[in-house]
Amino acid sequence: MSGAARAAKVLVALAATVAGTLGGAAAPARANESPLGYIEMPVSEDGTWVLSSPPGSGRNWGTPVFVRHLIMVAKEWRRRHPNGPFLRIGDMSKPDGTDFPPHKTHKDGLTADIFTSPRNICHVDFPDQDLTLELAQLFHDYGARQILYNGQKVIDAVSVAQRWPKHDDHFHIVIDPGRVPQDGEVLVLPEASAREGAVVAATRLQPDRTGLQLAWRILGQARLRSYRVLFDDLRDDDGVLHDSGPLRAARTTYDLPVALEHGKAYRWRVELDVGGEQPIGFGWQRLTTDLLAPAVEALSPRDDAAVDAPALSWRYQKAGVAQGSFRIELDTDANHRRIAGTLGPFQGGATSYVLRVPLKRGKRYWWRVVVTCANGNEAASEWHTFKHEPGAGEAATPGATPTPRGGATPVARAGTVNADALNLRAGPGTDHDVVTTLRRGTLVRVLGDPAADWLHVEADGRDGQPVRGYVARRFVELVE
Ligand SMILES: [Zn+2]
Repeated sequence: MSGAARAAKVLVALAATVAGTLGGAAAPARANESPLGYIEMPVSEDGTWVLSSPPGSGRNWGTPVFVRHLIMVAKEWRRRHPNGPFLRIGDMSKPDGTDFPPHKTHKDGLTADIFTSPRNICHVDFPDQDLTLELAQLFHDYGARQILYNGQKVIDAVSVAQRWPKHDDHFHIVIDPGRVPQDGEVLVLPEASAREGAVVAATRLQPDRTGLQLAWRILGQARLRSYRVLFDDLRDDDGVLHDSGPLRAARTTYDLPVALEHGKAYRWRVELDVGGEQPIGFGWQRLTTDLLAPAVEALSPRDDAAVDAPALSWRYQKAGVAQGSFRIELDTDANHRRIAGTLGPFQGGATSYVLRVPLKRGKRYWWRVVVTCANGNEAASEWHTFKHEPGAGEAATPGATPTPRGGATPVARAGTVNADALNLRAGPGTDHDVVTTLRRGTLVRVLGDPAADWLHVEADGRDGQPVRGYVARRFVELVE
């Protein structure tokens, strides 16, 4: 290269740097932009986020909107948790959007793997899954359209989250660029319980049917002067049903003083005065009410039957609304002032459950089932009683088909999970896949050697059906 050519190249580079710094409208194509328009995720000087791969590695590229999304999430997260953990951003895309092995995706400039530093809260073994959920929610609020992650709490609460093999220790996120807010924009979002389409159940109201909690959250830094809640029915008449007027407390919930009616549709919104010309908030959110409890009737066993492993069964009825979950309450005396134990809740519509907790020979037990319908209304059956007689078999179940439990394993030993979220794995060791995650207090039946480091166990899955696998023994408290 001649001296003149070298000098010209240096000048071009310098001009590009200056243009990049000033960001002027007349600037030529930015020097750090790839032919696809991707830019490299910058380094955070103050550690608000951390990159897994160094700048220049070619692994930290995405569309400008995606980079803005990541920076906004990182800043909001740090505002809430100034002492960490901080976002650690793993592989994004390559600058030219080419194949990025071992990933099958990570080409569109809208995708990243997310960890956190110093402690990785994006891990199904991280004990405080509330924190993990908060971060997943934040990605969703700022425009993620997909989150792959195997943590149950996140899957239950974030509509775009789903399970995916090998996603135990990070979020894989993909954004919808159209949903990413402008930089510095303050977002006000209704909480899921009061979002458009939500159904209000009686369990969320006072006995006089007032007290519905309307809740929202604020993303970004806003100096809140006052808030105002408007609540209305869907009739097009004059005025709203209820106007809270401006309220000065810095709250994000409001307990509605209006009594609601069953089977009605209402709408609500909130306006926040943050000192601007216009209040900020969101559009009307439509809610409907379903205030009727389901009917639940216990079928068997109910008359002091002598049984070994009682097949509890019941009948559920509520027109047009399926049973959403159930739990079994078990007691050892007739008072039920302090219930001895609860099994579940189990998800799904099963109407029978084989009780295989350790019971005492010849002892009398009381049980009932508490069902929750898909709309959230709850009802309990009457209490019934049975006697535990080993060898007497399962109770007969008139009028219902109990779920058969093949191979009725005798309860050699049982234990309870003493970690918030314990991985049940396909084999003995952390190199085996996670089958499911067991919550603290879950009862497990030990199938193999109770002294092994990895216990072979059976537990009730989320649908009440048994699942088998291996758990680390130190997270199980064995009961005799
Ligand atoms: Zn990924």
